[in-house]
Amino acid sequence: MKIRSPIVSVLGHVDHGKTTLLDYIRGSTIADKEAGGITQHIGATEIPNDTIEEICGNFISKLSIKDLIPGLFFIDTPGHAAFTSLRKRGGALADLAILIVDINDGFKPQTFEALNILKMYKTPFIVVANKVDRLFGWETHECASFKETFNQQAQSVKQELDVKIYEIVGTLHKEGFQSERFDRVSDFASQISIIPISARSGEGIIEVLAMLLGLAQEYLTEQLEINENAPAKGTVLEIKEEVGLGLTVDAIIYDGVLKTNDEIALMSSSNEVLTTKVRSILRPLPLEEMRDSKKRFQKFNEVVAAAGIKIAAPNLDDVVSGSPLRVLSDKENVKEEILKEIEDITISTEDEGVLVKADTLGSLEAIVKLLRELKIPIREANIGDVNRRDIINSSIALSEDEAHGAIIAFNVGIHSNSIDDLNNSGVKLFQGDVIYQIIEEYEEWVEEKEA
Ligand code: GDP
Ligand code: MG
Repeated sequence: MKIRSPIVSVLGHVDHGKTTLLDYIRGSTIADKEAGGITQHIGATEIPNDTIEEICGNFISKLSIKDLIPGLFFIDTPGHAAFTSLRKRGGALADLAILIVDINDGFKPQTFEALNILKMYKTPFIVVANKVDRLFGWETHECASFKETFNQQAQSVKQELDVKIYEIVGTLHKEGFQSERFDRVSDFASQISIIPISARSGEGIIEVLAMLLGLAQEYLTEQLEINENAPAKGTVLEIKEEVGLGLTVDAIIYDGVLKTNDEIALMSSSNEVLTTKVRSILRPLPLEEMRDSKKRFQKFNEVVAAAGIKIAAPNLDDVVSGSPLRVLSDKENVKEEILKEIEDITISTEDEGVLVKADTLGSLEAIVKLLRELKIPIREANIGDVNRRDIINSSIALSEDEAHGAIIAFNVGIHSNSIDDLNNSGVKLFQGDVIYQIIEEYEEWVEEKEA
């Protein structure tokens, strides 16, 4: 048994600072050559515990963090779309999340969306209140801990900060969460920590890293236990064409070991299991080496979770993003397990209901989950753009029950030659990129019909 690094995702509204935060975390640790040790994965960056300890110094020893957790594994693609796409059976792939909120802007639609998704998956998270440097009168202290920089602010600035923090506390309360500024939290199990930061100046980021390590250590060690010799389990991030390699899949491995020549099973766009053989396992070449060679990737004979890798293999054309990835083994009936997993999401038990379309298996799963909680019946759920067949089937459903003549479509378009069909069919299309807004619109539409 081994404890792997917790997988951490960053979620939040557009422009609230997700990319800047991730860049800072990567940059500050990479720049710190002394500390070093950072590993660049495909789609992720892993920062070892030692490095974090070196940056965080005293702060960490005060939290009495032992060496149980090897580090933090940050998913590079932020946002709730990536979060839902990076799924694993029955839940989110991320073990921990950072919900980022612009302290001057407060909660926005995508912040609520992210919160709803975290709630649904029961993913532990911290809130970071970003852009404190924009508070009126704030004096920036590059890279300082929150505590250090806060103590040096004028009284009025301290008060202003607290006013903003308590607005966030109030909003979270309405959403069913108890929260507090992190240094006033008395019980980390029941209260969400809010850490004021500036992703631009780095203020407060030390505490973010320390808090994530602390939470993982305190609450997640069991979930992070992996068997280094077991056949790998992972999730497909995306399918990519690479010069010289052909089609590849980028995947995150969250359990076990993956080796070259392993037979793997994946899900196809027609909801079937496809198998292939791993030709090579690749990770980005370290930056220094990339400069003086044309190669971008280095090969590995095997990788142990947690790992973000690119896999070159034949027969990948039809793989769906968000697909499970499993190494076939004699002991487990992997193919059947994957089929069952797909069926749980896509095959509904109801004969009547709405049609759900989404861009990835993960987002589809999230919407299906939410609709089931709301007791909205689902006739069919599948991945891809809205097509002619969808419209025909929905108009049949419409003739049986008006409320079922609806298509709930997340992050997908409609085939251009089907637009006329849709307009002539009377089927109602609810389309968007914020799940709860689409569902709200649907519910309002149903209410109007019933009124
Ligand atoms: P994302 O859409 O959530 O990834 O947001 P970005 O990271 O792209 O940030 C959006 C804008 O806010 C960019 O112009 C950033 O430079 C800026 N920004 C992000 N964090 C901070 C911060 O802490 N302070 C200030 N002043 N600007 C920030
Ligand atoms: Mg961004």
